[in-house]
Amino acid sequence: MKITDGIHRIGNGLINSYLLGEGSEVTIIDAAVPGYWSDLPRELAAMSRSLEDVRAIVLTHGHSDHIGFAERARRERGWPVRVHELDAALARGEVPNPAKGTGPVRPMPLLRFLALSLMNGALRTPRLREVVTYGDGATLDLPGAPRVILMPGHTPGNAALHVPSRNALFIGDAMATVAVTNGATGPMVAPFTADAAQAVASLSRLDGLEAAWVLPGHGEPWTGGVGEAVRIVRAAAG
Ligand SMILES: [Zn+2]
Repeated sequence: MKITDGIHRIGNGLINSYLLGEGSEVTIIDAAVPGYWSDLPRELAAMSRSLEDVRAIVLTHGHSDHIGFAERARRERGWPVRVHELDAALARGEVPNPAKGTGPVRPMPLLRFLALSLMNGALRTPRLREVVTYGDGATLDLPGAPRVILMPGHTPGNAALHVPSRNALFIGDAMATVAVTNGATGPMVAPFTADAAQAVASLSRLDGLEAAWVLPGHGEPWTGGVGEAVRIVRAAAG
C-alpha cells in the first residue's frame, strides 16, 4: 500500500517492509518475512517499478522478522543486503538473538502476530550468507540516500534511516507503534528489546530531527512528530 509519495509498504502493519523510490530506482527497507517475496512484484508495479529497479535491501537490524526474504533476494537477484556492522553477525546467524523478554503479553494479539509469521514462513527464514555493512552517520549511496543513525538498545546495531527528501524516518525497532505481544498501540520501546534502558537513551540521537513520517518495523506510521514520539516513549519509561 502507498504510504506517501515514493514510499510503499508491504504487510498489514504488524510486520512491515518498505519500498523507497527515487527516480526510477527503489531501495527496500527491511525484508520482514519470507512470504512477502510474492507480494513484492505487485507492490513495485503499484509504484510503476519492477524487480529490475531494486538496488538494495537495507536492514534496520539483524532480527529474523526483518531479514525475511532478504537472503532469497540476494541469491536470486543479486541485491546487496546492508546492515550495521554491529548487527552483521546476528544477521548471519552467528550469534544468538540478544532479545530479553517480551514485556506484558495478551494471548490474542500475540497469536495474530504468530499466525501472520507462520503463514509467511517466518520459522524458515534463511540467515544471510553475506551482508554489506554500513556505519553510523553514513549516507548510503542508494535510492533515497538514507542516512544512518545508530540507535543501540533493541539490538547492538539497531539503526534508524533518515530520508529527508521524503520527509521520512524509518525507525526500525528503535521504537514500535504496536506491541505485537499485547496489541497496545502508540510509540513505545519495541518488544524483544535487548536493553530497554539503552534503547530509551538512544532516543536522544533524534534530538532536533524532523520527519513527517515515522515508519516503524511494527505498527502504523506515526505522523505526530518525532519529538512527540520520543516524549511519549520516555514518559512511559519513567
Ligand atoms: Zn527487532
